[in-house]
Amino acid sequence: MIVFYSEEHRLQSGRSELNDGQLVPCYEKPARADIVRNRLDAIGFGSVRAPEPHGLTPLERVHDVGYLAFLQNAWGEWVQEHGDWDALPLNWVAPGMHRRVVPRSIDGRLGYYSFDAGTPITAGTWRAATSAADSALSGADRIRAGDRSAFALCRPPGHHAGKAFYGGYCFLNNAAIAAQSLRDGGAARVAVLDVDYHHGNGTQEILWERGDALFVSLHADPVDEFPYFSGHADETGAGAGEGANLNLPLPWGTDWAAYAETLDVAARRIRAFAPDVLVVSLGADTYGGDPISRFRLLSEDFLRMGAAIAGIGLPTLFVMEGGYAVDDLGVNVANVLTGFEDS
Ligand SMILES: [Zn+2]
Repeated sequence: MIVFYSEEHRLQSGRSELNDGQLVPCYEKPARADIVRNRLDAIGFGSVRAPEPHGLTPLERVHDVGYLAFLQNAWGEWVQEHGDWDALPLNWVAPGMHRRVVPRSIDGRLGYYSFDAGTPITAGTWRAATSAADSALSGADRIRAGDRSAFALCRPPGHHAGKAFYGGYCFLNNAAIAAQSLRDGGAARVAVLDVDYHHGNGTQEILWERGDALFVSLHADPVDEFPYFSGHADETGAGAGEGANLNLPLPWGTDWAAYAETLDVAARRIRAFAPDVLVVSLGADTYGGDPISRFRLLSEDFLRMGAAIAGIGLPTLFVMEGGYAVDDLGVNVANVLTGFEDS
């Protein structure tokens, strides 16, 4: 399996995020990608390549042009206004307020285009985010060229980013960008399977009215867990996409036995949709040792997860999402990939 990885991920290195009422060091940090890369090297897994630059066009197939311009320029505007410190939003729109006018103020636009205060924009955010999208797109190119699988070691992650919003450590939706690229490259139908602990609200929003793209997500129930306002079982898509969105929320404390049963439900739904290709949003924050999550998967369970995904029987692009137990993240992610390859 070819692995795409860009050193430019390091350019996204925020100082702090809002968590439990305090500004704390960012959980989403460069060490996450480093440990995955190091583990893959240590076990001699695949061949690691730098991604090819793909430019703005494939990003514009998924994201709003105004949003992309905002992301590209936000840091410069923030520094002019506030100086060299992480850009975090201050407030958001609520029902009864209006979004029809895009604020001129950078503070106003940070709130306009985001949904949380956990996702600092820094000097290197745009370059890091576009390098991650390039990894996903390069992986999609390999699938299109006939590879059975590829792994895009994306950082920052992407599944919380929507057409015109960022949050949850995500700026560009790498999985959705790859899925669209596969569609544009000739796949008639694509499926995205999201196994991150958190609901992939951005991917759902992007694919909501799409009948050619199935979104299936296993995640912690949003009545208890971030992102709270997305991920319920009754969210099934709309318009042409009605029925092409399957949310499988699970309670805190879910272990492999319960997870495996639900993953089987997801696999059957994907096979019934009969896509040409599968994109997996691979978060390993379902791990029992994760500092911000509450499922109980063990490291060896990730081998079984990889085997179960292989059992779906589709060309598969893995796209890295979350996972914050940094010491164990390399083993857990590598286990999914080796579990897939050995099946
Ligand atoms: Zn997550």
